[in-house]
Amino acid sequence: MRTKVFLFFALLWLALNAISLLMQINGVHSTAKNIAFAQGQLFFNHLVTMRHWNAEYGGVYVPVSEQTPPNPYLDVPERDIVTVDGRRLTLINPAYMTRQLAEMEKDRSSIQFSITSLNPKRPENQPDEWEANALQAFERGEPNIMQIAQLHDLPFYRYMAPLKINESCLRCHKDHQLGDIRGGISVSIPQDKIMPYVDGQLRHVYLLHASIASIGLLMLIAFHASERSVNKQLKFAKSMLRLAFIDSLTGLPNRRYYDQHVQKEWQHAMRHQYPLSIIMLDIDYFKNYNDAEGHTAGDKCLIKLARVLKLYLKRSEDIVCRYGGEEFCVVTSCDAEQSLALAEKLRAAVENRKLRHPNSPISRYVTLSLGVATAIPINSNTPGELLDLADKALYRAKKNGRNRVELYEK
Ligand code: GH3
Ligand code: MG
Ligand code: MG
Repeated sequence: MRTKVFLFFALLWLALNAISLLMQINGVHSTAKNIAFAQGQLFFNHLVTMRHWNAEYGGVYVPVSEQTPPNPYLDVPERDIVTVDGRRLTLINPAYMTRQLAEMEKDRSSIQFSITSLNPKRPENQPDEWEANALQAFERGEPNIMQIAQLHDLPFYRYMAPLKINESCLRCHKDHQLGDIRGGISVSIPQDKIMPYVDGQLRHVYLLHASIASIGLLMLIAFHASERSVNKQLKFAKSMLRLAFIDSLTGLPNRRYYDQHVQKEWQHAMRHQYPLSIIMLDIDYFKNYNDAEGHTAGDKCLIKLARVLKLYLKRSEDIVCRYGGEEFCVVTSCDAEQSLALAEKLRAAVENRKLRHPNSPISRYVTLSLGVATAIPINSNTPGELLDLADKALYRAKKNGRNRVELYEK
């Protein structure tokens, strides 16, 4: 894995972790909110049940006390009665009961609830702004409202639902009809009450994500490091292999490669009985070249010449090798006629490349002599013998004036 790819995957991993973390944080907050609102709803339902119980009895009588004075807003006969033994009792209707319960709950658990309406009889039951908006929403048909909203400048989970007139309410609220909205009860739970749960869950989420992100990152780093070392070894092995089979000056396959290749080709040609040709190439008067231009220029000339030869050997099964010194060798699966044509093409290509040769008795440019030998391999002869024949043809080319091609013929 290249460093850029590693960085890409590392960043992708961290980004996925960050997205998952954000989703989890969001999830924790939304769960907390749902729990708080479910609590609010439960509270509301309990209150409605208690109010129904009270209304079923047309209110309940309790002793008059400092905390429970007669309700000045309750306009019914026999609001206050005296028992035969002289105890003063006053009637508690559902609204009065709800108020008393609200005060008790506030002292006990900091959960606040209040009974309100848009035009309350009791001035203390005036709704705050949030409650007034909720009451208006009930008039428009909203079944309930759940929001995080401020109360006394502190954040609260606030739940509110409407109070509707039912059968038991009609006894006192004679001017109403079944289903009329009489007002509502709001339940407010301080956010502080839920926060310890949220913080605990968040700590768990942070720890989990930090661990998963670090483990993933460490695994990526380990994978990257081990891959780098394997790649290094692979590169080294490849370069060693290259050194073993490639000629370092010209970049052509070397004689070791030739030996292996020709053996393979020979077996293949023998199995399928097709002709195999070897062309030996030798630069004419190259010693003279070195003498005139120097050894370094001679090396450069060999490089240029190798490029020309490579250019003309395009078939993947044909190869040209540097056999040694300024001698090259082509192995091709062609018959004698085709090999002669190929050899001639190579000869002409080198001559036409016009590499200056100031010291050649036969030309102003570098030229090649080539010897071609072809055979359909059989068990009784070897690639070495075919090479010897190509060498003999090359010798004949030299003898016959150089810069020419000769085919070995018995
Ligand atoms: P001929 O036409 O008969 O082949 O003449 P020649 O001078 O080319 O004779 P021969 O093939 O025997 O000479 C080979 C010369 O090639 C000897 C050496 O100076 C030169 N040579 C061999 N290998 C290298 C090499 O790697 N670099 C350079 N610059 N010269 C080389
Ligand atoms: Mg030679
Ligand atoms: Mg030579």
